[in-house]
Amino acid sequence: MSDKIFKAIYITAISVFLASLVFIMGISYHYFSSLQKSQLKNETELGAQGVTLSGAAYFKKLRAENYRITWIGADGSVLYDSEAKSETMENHLERKEVKKALKTGFGEAVRYSNTLADKQLYAAKRLPDGSVLRMSILQRSVWALLFGFAQPICLVVVIATLLSFFLASGLTARIVAPINEIDVEHPEYYYGKERFKEVEPLLRHILAQKAQLKREQAEIEKTALIRQEFTANVSHELKTPLHAISGYAELLEKELVKKEDVKRFSGKILEESLRLTKLVEDIVDLTNLDSGATTAKREECDVLRIAKNAAESLEAAATAMDVALSVEGTEASVVAIPQMIHSVVYNLCDNAIKYNHRGGYVNVEVAQSDDNTILTVEDSGVGIPEECQERIFERFYRVNKSRSKEVGGTGLGLSIVKHAVMLHNGKIEVYSQHGEGSTFVVTLPNMPASADANVLKPLQ
Ligand code: ADP
Repeated sequence: MSDKIFKAIYITAISVFLASLVFIMGISYHYFSSLQKSQLKNETELGAQGVTLSGAAYFKKLRAENYRITWIGADGSVLYDSEAKSETMENHLERKEVKKALKTGFGEAVRYSNTLADKQLYAAKRLPDGSVLRMSILQRSVWALLFGFAQPICLVVVIATLLSFFLASGLTARIVAPINEIDVEHPEYYYGKERFKEVEPLLRHILAQKAQLKREQAEIEKTALIRQEFTANVSHELKTPLHAISGYAELLEKELVKKEDVKRFSGKILEESLRLTKLVEDIVDLTNLDSGATTAKREECDVLRIAKNAAESLEAAATAMDVALSVEGTEASVVAIPQMIHSVVYNLCDNAIKYNHRGGYVNVEVAQSDDNTILTVEDSGVGIPEECQERIFERFYRVNKSRSKEVGGTGLGLSIVKHAVMLHNGKIEVYSQHGEGSTFVVTLPNMPASADANVLKPLQ
């Protein structure tokens, strides 16, 4: 990283320096060009005064270094030239600066010399007798100027390069030092300290990631604990009916049961094996819910029709308990997994019948708003004490263990319900008072959160 920072600083410094150099050279060249031009004009004015006063005698002892001086007659013939023999020179009437001077009194022109890069500046002044005095000077091109300054420029470039190098190294070291010093295990130690001000965003990032990792770790540990507890509970729950079955079977096998008790014992075996079957079914349901979370497809289904189906399959159980079971409401189409919705209604109604009084009722109602479908299962049963209401959705939790066993409960029904509702991004609420019946209200969104969310989010 320090290599990159160094390169960045170094290249920036050199680039800024070179850009400034070019800029300054440009400006200076422009400034000196216009200065030279105005000087040429002044010199021409002075020369013109000299020639006006002394005529041809002015040129006699003239030493014109750098400047070229030409005196041109009103007809364009060259009367004097400081660099060539005037007789051999062609007529100058057509020269731009001369033409202009004859017309307006003063004329200027710029012409590129053979080398193209260099320019010749001309200034011409008309004298009172109609002749014209012209002066010209060579103006060096910017390249020639650069060439002329090559030595100092090279020196400055070398100094600037070296200076940039040391500056870049120093700066890099200063920037990188606090980063290298940070102990990522304890970013909070550096927070707010002056020396680490620049790396605060990095510290914040590390802190946030650490917090997230901690959360995830806790979550993983929690899930592992829940799984462990579940496995322990499952084996315990399975063992109880199995022990009972094997106990009764052993008594029967050893003919230790009185003839009149054989039927009762066989009944017990049947009852326990049914319980075992129900338990295994519920465990399979829960496992399916976990794996179904990633594989099952949602489809459009009518909650009212599903509720009627579920109620129909519980009709016999309701009759046996002398409980009136009714389903009412409107058609409510939702995009969901139909088996899961069936499982929700079935388990809620099953409980509402199981934990009811003889002659009681269970009312199922389905209603729909723009966004949600609301399923209400109300019963006239034993109710749930307030302090237990939060826990009834936990796996294997029962309010009254012996009553649950008596009615063939497994302690898994409501956790299956909650799991299925959550997988659909819905919610479940319970309103109950001990001894005064219970009402379970399930709210399901009509559509999944996003249109293509066919795959459900698994629960932790
Ligand atoms: P179970 O198989 O024991 O019924 P559930 O998970 O379905 O297990 O329910 C958990 C506990 O919640 C039950 O043991 C019961 O005590 C209580 N419960 C559930 N539904 C009702 C209800 N409608 N009326 C009264 N108690 C209920």
